[in-house]
Amino acid sequence: MNILVINAGSSSLKYQLLNPETQQVLAKGLCERIGIDGKFTYKPEGKEPVKEADVAMPTHNEAIKAVLDALVDAKNGVIGSMKEIDAVGHRVVHGGEKFARSVLITDEVMAAIEECNPLAPLHNPANIIGIRACQALMPGTPMVAVFDTAFHQTMPAAAYMYALPYEYYEKDKVRRYGFHGTSHKYVTQRAAAMLGKPIEELKLISCHLGNGSSITAVDGGKSVDTSMGFTPLAGLPMGTRCGDIDAGILQYLMNQYGMGIDEMLNILNKKSGVEGLSCVSSDFRDLESAAGKGDEKAALAQKKFAYEVKKYVGAYAAAMGGVDAVIFTAGVGENDKAIRSMVCEGLEYMGVKLDAAANDVRGEEKVISAADSKAKVLLIPTNEELMIAIDTAALAK
Ligand code: ADP
Repeated sequence: MNILVINAGSSSLKYQLLNPETQQVLAKGLCERIGIDGKFTYKPEGKEPVKEADVAMPTHNEAIKAVLDALVDAKNGVIGSMKEIDAVGHRVVHGGEKFARSVLITDEVMAAIEECNPLAPLHNPANIIGIRACQALMPGTPMVAVFDTAFHQTMPAAAYMYALPYEYYEKDKVRRYGFHGTSHKYVTQRAAAMLGKPIEELKLISCHLGNGSSITAVDGGKSVDTSMGFTPLAGLPMGTRCGDIDAGILQYLMNQYGMGIDEMLNILNKKSGVEGLSCVSSDFRDLESAAGKGDEKAALAQKKFAYEVKKYVGAYAAAMGGVDAVIFTAGVGENDKAIRSMVCEGLEYMGVKLDAAANDVRGEEKVISAADSKAKVLLIPTNEELMIAIDTAALAK
């Protein structure tokens, strides 16, 4: 079964054609600068990547058309015809409280996704445009929506409610939703397979540490708490996002500098996090190298990040009454051994003991805890496209 996975943003579109049964990726790539000048990247398996600038992409329709043309192209194509695409899986950022799992897309589902637009005004409308473009070019092909928020819909009210007047939840749907659900679901399923135990019997803490970062407590295969909130600004400090801060700071700084709320939020989203704190970079590789040369602020940003991750690990072990494994994934989690080591340092009391030699690894599925560590520490590369393809294939059958 071949599944086309589409992740549409406002001016870009990532795609991958893969077979979820064999996990073979037939081709993948990226359309960028949609609506501007159009840049197209296509990498067929086993062949040279194709890069084309100035591809006319006034809308997402032309971008999807370029993807389909490339997939069936006589020279660089990987399938004979579009009929060999059995279904399309679309990443959709926000499913609100309406979607607790992936769904086959119908007119009713489209209307419900649109109703979630106010919750993710930058992302959902772009996801919808991507779906419509595919529907127009591939009528009759089953389409599935896979939501970033769905996996977290199992959280209990005590975890998802904010201590705000109740009416803001009832009337305005203000609550914790959580994000990165597809990644947390994928790595926790892989963790159960690695540990050789049914996921129903496991208490797992999944640390998705990338440019955006979130941590999820997964008890018995269900998300019971997660660090991102109503928006992806909450929780850990990230590349450029501040994570949790005292809301009173907003009023204070806005008064101090005569800023409006948009300017303030731009600072919290794009100028804060490890970049803001280090005055160096949002990229952990740059922090490592600057800290190595004695830059104190870069070292502080690394420490602050690892400290907050550690606090969430402790909090979620408390929330679940224990932990069987801590999982590291995404760009930083998969590659940065120093951060993993800083997070685990001092957690021996709760049975988490990293093995320094085993931790000297990047981007491969591996147990990195010591043999006598009561809780395992696992490095698991995430694969959101595969998870989307698995869900899509199951629903399209
Ligand atoms: P996104 O949230 O954009 O999906 P990723 O999960 O791809 O982000 O993570 C990107 C981040 O991973 C980079 O900004 C960088 O900080 C970090 N990263 C990537 N490679 C390394 C590495 N070798 N060492 C440390 N950090 C790395």
